[in-house]
Amino acid sequence: MNLRLYNSFTNKIEDFNPINSDRITMYNCGPTVYDYAHIGNFRSFLMADLLRRVLELNGYNVVQVMNITDVGHMTQDDSLEDGGEDKMVTALKKGASVAKVDKKDGYKNLKFSSPWEVADFYIKAFMEDFKALNFLTPHHFPRATDYIDEMVKIVKTLVDKKHAYCAEDGTYYFDVTSFKQYGKLSNNTLKALQEGAGGRVEEGVNKYKRQNFDFALWKKDDAHIMKWDTELGSGFPGWHIECTAMSLKLLGNSIDFHTGGEDNKFPHHECEIAQSEAYTGERFVNYWLHAKFLQVEGEKMAKSKGNFYTIPDLLKKGYHPLAIRWVLMSTHYSQTLNFTLDGLETAHKSIKKLVALKDKVAKYIDHESSQFSPENIVEYASKTTDQFKDALNNNLNISSALAVVFGFVNLINKQISLSKEQATACMDTFKTIDSCLGVIFDYQEDTLDGDMVNKIESLIADRNQARKNKDYALADQIRSELIDMGIEIQDSKDGTSWKKL
Ligand code: AMP
Ligand code: ZN
Repeated sequence: MNLRLYNSFTNKIEDFNPINSDRITMYNCGPTVYDYAHIGNFRSFLMADLLRRVLELNGYNVVQVMNITDVGHMTQDDSLEDGGEDKMVTALKKGASVAKVDKKDGYKNLKFSSPWEVADFYIKAFMEDFKALNFLTPHHFPRATDYIDEMVKIVKTLVDKKHAYCAEDGTYYFDVTSFKQYGKLSNNTLKALQEGAGGRVEEGVNKYKRQNFDFALWKKDDAHIMKWDTELGSGFPGWHIECTAMSLKLLGNSIDFHTGGEDNKFPHHECEIAQSEAYTGERFVNYWLHAKFLQVEGEKMAKSKGNFYTIPDLLKKGYHPLAIRWVLMSTHYSQTLNFTLDGLETAHKSIKKLVALKDKVAKYIDHESSQFSPENIVEYASKTTDQFKDALNNNLNISSALAVVFGFVNLINKQISLSKEQATACMDTFKTIDSCLGVIFDYQEDTLDGDMVNKIESLIADRNQARKNKDYALADQIRSELIDMGIEIQDSKDGTSWKKL
């Protein structure tokens, strides 16, 4: 079966027809680095990861861009007014919560000295989570602040083309009435906007805009801490123009895929379409995919409910990162996913089952058995590969794909032994399965290897020596080093014990 996907632009499942079959282009709205990314964000990124893996399974060469938003994403991002405070500035004031060195499970507030430091801190945290969840690395991870020149160039052209204007407040706005197709993604058409569009436009908030529903491209705000002196005057970019600039620059005027969470559809993606197409005169994106927000233990995820999980929160509770990957990926991205801690346990068992079977199969590749299965395993393995691919090609139908996987697992588990040829065929099937799931071959039991244990023991010995020498500063420094390695130590009269955090 050829690849078919639900396009949230047409609201239909469509055949995938690439713009250029040698180079598939995909842009993912990435994290705003003002806080640790949460499992909802990762659900949206995993949708993109799975899409890329399925495209590659189909033999396509994919160029993937995931941006990093490090300026201009305002706290009130769900309306065209785009007001409130830059999230980076809020984060600067707030500081970060980091594990305390000297108190079990405690947190301390880390102060930042600039929004750049905020960005660096959360980018580092994001990359660690990304690695733990075994994502394929995007080909580009552009930071919005590195693309200011490109944004300025686009805004200037939009002004020349009469799609944008500089208002009396010094801010450049996109004139939504100049783009008649506005609303083609989200249905917030000009007519709907003129009628108020269900509260997505704030009346009379901003007296400088020509229309309430015009949106900012380049903002003048002397009080803003992140500013650039440009031909547009001193200011900072609006969030929407950032993605347009990075996508056009890195992938070209028209791309195959653009993804994000369902909240991005309006206003973010609708505005991206307007400004990109007004600028290039070409269709911006062919296929749009939007991930539905997840629920946690049956409720909306919210900090106030204590169900707001980041990846380190879950790792600290002892859950395996690939179990998190599995749970976030194993419900189709368009359906409500109810994320539960029990679900993580079940996922981990499923992964272990797959890994154990892969290891069993590997054994028969190395040591040919005299007996082998009477069943036609070679054919079955190849049929499994086809069915798995067909399931994913059918709009990334992950539940059907997993059903195929477990059908295969159950049959192979029943075999007393396999011939070398059978085992090789099964291993090929496992490789195909894991090229999309990403949980089998990279799985590591949550144990520490010998080198790591030696290093821990030697650091603890150094620390004890430092304490004997009354060099408490050095002792504390070693303790923080261990914490950074994910190791917690406890002193008692019998000596120092340690465990994984
Ligand atoms: P942000 O860091 O807020 O810019 O979000 C990064 C990406 O995660 C965007 O594509 C959002 O649409 C997406 N996102 C945010 N919250 C959720 C959620 N609860 N579920 C799925 N995707 C989300
Ligand atoms: Zn974006």
